[in-house]
Parts: sequence; structure tokens; C-alpha cells
Amino acid sequence: MKAFALALGILAALLGGRSTLAGGAFEAEPVIGGVSMACRDFRGRIVQTLHAPLRGDVGRATFISAVPVIALDPARLATLPEKMQIFFYQHECAHHVLAHIINPTIESEREADCWSIDRGRTAGLFTRADVEAFAPFLAHSRGSAFGHLPGPERHAYLLACFDAPDRSQAAYNR
Ligand SMILES: [Zn+2]
Repeated sequence: MKAFALALGILAALLGGRSTLAGGAFEAEPVIGGVSMACRDFRGRIVQTLHAPLRGDVGRATFISAVPVIALDPARLATLPEKMQIFFYQHECAHHVLAHIINPTIESEREADCWSIDRGRTAGLFTRADVEAFAPFLAHSRGSAFGHLPGPERHAYLLACFDAPDRSQAAYNR
């Protein structure tokens, strides 16, 4: 879920043939968790979605040949409930929307988490019970030096964002 890393596998897949691009591997409106999604970056450009193996991460925000891209690992995604698939898509979208992709900070992961939850809540995609149900899927993540919170803390943060997105972000951005 790092905003600035790109799996070499994706590049290799793309360099393997331009037909990957023309053949529709990029999706502007992917169906994630049963819902048609869309994302525009901080410049208003359409963010394309690419399904590719990511060696451990569920998703990544990146650029491929200057095209803003959300890469999602289909195998990892398939292990998650639909609402969490949407959460991770929107988390990566947030890295593009909030320009973390060019200017990542230690706050980026928390900001992307809160943006994703808030967007899902506002769009009527997430109920509080949906977010509560994320707990077992986050329980074992250890967090990272790049600002990912350890699983239980991250889950508590997601719920705080659901309840009061402005206050949650402000509390972390002090
Ligand atoms: Zn992230």
C-alpha cells in the first residue's frame, strides 16, 4: 500500500506488449466489490485500474508512463469481503486525489484511510457495521515505518473516521 512503489512485475507486464494497454487491461471504471468505481487524481485526470500481482500488498497507487494507476492484486482482493475491496480501492484512489503520489508524508497512510472511509460513508457504500467487520482482516497487520498503523489501531482509527472524519484527521495532523 505504499504510494510510491511499483512492482517490477507490472512494468514487465506492460513492457511485454503494448497490447496490454490497448487490450483493456487498464480500466477507468472497474467493478470493485460489486460496485462500479471511478477515481480522478489531484489534477483531475482519470485514474486507471490495473489488476496485477503485487507480492504482498493488496493495492498500490503509482504512475505507469505518466498515467495515474491503481494497481490491485486480484488474489489478495479475492480473500477480502466486498466492502474491504472497496475500502482498499478508495485508499489507493486517495493517494492520487491527495497528491501523496508525488509528495508522500508520514501522514499519508492515515489520510488515505480516513478519506476512503469518509467517501464510502458519504456515498452510502459503508455502514458502521461494515467497517466494524473489517477487524479480523486487519488484526494481524503490523504497521510500518511509512505510517501504516498496526492492525487494531488502524481499525480503531477507521471507526473514528467513520464517526467524525474531520476530527480524526485534525487529531493526527496537529
Ligand atoms: Zn496507502
